[in-house]
Amino acid sequence: MTELTPANANELTSDTPIMAFAQLQLADPLARAVAEMGYETMTPIQAQAIPVVLQGRDVMGAAQTGTGKTAAFALPLMQRMLKHENASTSPARHPVRALVLLPTRELAVQVAEQVELYGKYTNLRSAVVFGGMDMKPQTIELKKGVEVLVATPGRLLDHIEAKNCVLNQVEYVVLDEADRMLDIGFLPDLQRILSYLPKQRTTLLFSATFSPEIKRLASSYLQDPVTIEVARSNAAASTVEQHFYSVEGEDKRHALHQILRQRGLKQAFVFVNSKLGCARLARSLEHEGLKTTALHGDKSQDERLKALESFKSGEVDLLVCTDVAARGLDIKDVPAVFNFDIPFHAEDYVHRIGRTGRAGAEGLAVTFVSKSDQRLVTDIEKLLKTKIELEGIEFEENLPDIRKQGHINDGRRLYREDGSDQRRPEDFARGSRFEPRRSRPVPQDPFFEKPYEPSLPADAAPAWEAAVVRPGVRTISSNIKTKRKLAALFQAA
Ligand code: AMP
Repeated sequence: MTELTPANANELTSDTPIMAFAQLQLADPLARAVAEMGYETMTPIQAQAIPVVLQGRDVMGAAQTGTGKTAAFALPLMQRMLKHENASTSPARHPVRALVLLPTRELAVQVAEQVELYGKYTNLRSAVVFGGMDMKPQTIELKKGVEVLVATPGRLLDHIEAKNCVLNQVEYVVLDEADRMLDIGFLPDLQRILSYLPKQRTTLLFSATFSPEIKRLASSYLQDPVTIEVARSNAAASTVEQHFYSVEGEDKRHALHQILRQRGLKQAFVFVNSKLGCARLARSLEHEGLKTTALHGDKSQDERLKALESFKSGEVDLLVCTDVAARGLDIKDVPAVFNFDIPFHAEDYVHRIGRTGRAGAEGLAVTFVSKSDQRLVTDIEKLLKTKIELEGIEFEENLPDIRKQGHINDGRRLYREDGSDQRRPEDFARGSRFEPRRSRPVPQDPFFEKPYEPSLPADAAPAWEAAVVRPGVRTISSNIKTKRKLAALFQAA
């Protein structure tokens, strides 16, 4: 098909020369779409995977999100499917020929959007199905016939059971973010879905890491795959400046405010470990004057998409999120990532900081470490094979006095005597007003007492620049090594 097709595809390395899309000899409709998107040079995963997929080989790809892996699988499989392309209105002429499975709704939407763009000048139809939404519109779409189906596993099974789609003509299946799908517990669903597919097919598996479970999955479902690794798995992007600050409890919020202002950051992701912690922190930060939205698994589909949109459009400055919700999101140029909670799994550290410093841009990753987190720091050190040095923070005198504002979020505060918090996450959603239960005492929190106030206009400066300051308040973290010069801790390999 192309000059790119390498005879020694199995030995491809990340040193494969970067090539221009023009060299690929993509079919005109695909080449036109790619040119329109402004792509000129292939990313390493594209340069390596596209020729292999064009050969019809199975691929096991270790590539993190943001590497261009969607085009790496979508373009060649669409190119190979063009032979079936037709303008017929009959659904029977548009059977599902390519199936792309992803762990979350956000990722499914993101990939489907890209597939749609790549295929816009072809007659190949694409659609996306995911849970948490009415099945009806998806059913109508499926029944019209669709060649490329992007789906989350659970909802796809619902459609299969409802006989809304038939998969016996599938030629390509892509298991994207496969490690995450296994983490979420999708293995049984995947096994069932794969059992419906023809044995004769091309299977592409992409995963950020090749854990033993992923290798087992690959050995069961892939045939003689070509292994492609574009970045050392578990490697942190070298363009990310990483800092670990020793800071406890509510000082974390002080530290966040200060770093945002000192660094003049426009936007940032703030990661927390639990859904409840996510909702609470987002609410606290919003209350402190930062334009914030939360993204976690308990939000409705609509709320999650809105949260993403508002961050992408710059309407909000901070996206407070959990790992599952944020994994793989294609939000470019996030200047900084804060690990408000150090992640429980060291691999999540790599995924989190992968949101910043993408595509060669410089990024900042700040992790707050409390005394009880030492074991987790050691896990990250082992994974990155680097010694982590904890830094102290000296707080500025002019910080907003967030303690005065009544709400403390240290991730441990309990609202009920039995230690549980019965409020639903949607109670914290932007625009909603939580009515405290009157039957039990609730802590004093002015947020609950005043009506919702909308954010500042989208073009306003980040809220931390305009935050009210209370001169004369000097707060020092209990872990400060006074006046210590803060230096970059390490450069990842
Ligand atoms: P992905 O890793 O597939 O989610 O892609 C990340 C982002 O990179 C998407 O916004 C793509 O539109 C963009 N992208 C993919 N391939 C290229 C390329 N060769 N040149 C420039 N941008 C690209």
